[in-house]
Amino acid sequence: MHDDILPQAAPPRQRSLCDLPKTHLHVHLDGSYPLDAVEALARKSGIDFRVPEAFTDVWAFFDAYGQVPHLVRSLDDLAMLCRALILSEAREGVRYIEPAIEPQLYAPRLGSLEQVTRAMLMAFAEAAADSGVEIGALVTINTDADFEIAGELARIAAKYAGRGVNGLGTAGFLEPGNLRRFRSSAQIAQAVGLPVISHAGQTGGADCVEEALDELGATRIAHGFRAIESEDTVKRLADDQIVCDVCPISNLRLGVVPDMAHHPAPKLLRAGVPVTLNADDSLWFGAGVTAQFEVARHVWSMTDAELAEFARAGARATGMSLATREALLADIEDWIR
Ligand SMILES: [Zn+2]
Repeated sequence: MHDDILPQAAPPRQRSLCDLPKTHLHVHLDGSYPLDAVEALARKSGIDFRVPEAFTDVWAFFDAYGQVPHLVRSLDDLAMLCRALILSEAREGVRYIEPAIEPQLYAPRLGSLEQVTRAMLMAFAEAAADSGVEIGALVTINTDADFEIAGELARIAAKYAGRGVNGLGTAGFLEPGNLRRFRSSAQIAQAVGLPVISHAGQTGGADCVEEALDELGATRIAHGFRAIESEDTVKRLADDQIVCDVCPISNLRLGVVPDMAHHPAPKLLRAGVPVTLNADDSLWFGAGVTAQFEVARHVWSMTDAELAEFARAGARATGMSLATREALLADIEDWIR
């Protein structure tokens, strides 16, 4: 992780955060491939791939983000990257992951939406067998761009529900007033029991979090930290146990929080909102899921008991198998004991 986020003094010997059994629930596939795998792919095409030191704003980030899918020239390339991601997550103590997949970034260039989705799911199944990490992908609609294909994406999610797909995601930066248009797509997924997990409360405020709950029936919120701007919204999230999948380092790098010390995540957790910690796009921000827990420990001064609570929130929040959930919760207790 970049040295500017953590205090310089070496901490005393503490429980290993890498060893804390974790979920990783807010992780965009295309922004999270391991850097060495992306560099190798770029070299094959004679391209000098570099991650910028900083982003001026979310739009600069969005421009950079779009480069990586174009380095992927075949479904074999894509499968290699999917496997590489899962193996690197396993090394961070991740036991269950929900990669947000956007087959539309590769289709129709590499195949139909469904063919690309199947290639991703097959690669994940292989990586799950190799790593022991359970995987439930979130087929994700970009609400800024994907209105025309949203229904098709939702139908693909529904078709593979429980067979590699564990939810329908929505992501996008243009938050306010945009989500109602995606209600029928959300309902296609919900009809087969898939949860809808919506980006909200990152660039938009608490009203956007309410919009995701009301318009899409979202049961988890990606980011959601700006709920802190409304007492009523915080209370609603706590009362209904709506999980917020927060990404602190991403938020700092994109300038959507002014500084790390005042990130709202600890306040939300202490108000009873289930909060998980996530990397969002580790390729671009140079920090994986464990680094987010380092922030919680060293910048927010949270106790190991509170860190375990972040991990428990992830274990309880998802569509993982009962066996994985029970093992994960038991191993979190072992970690804190
Ligand atoms: Zn995200």
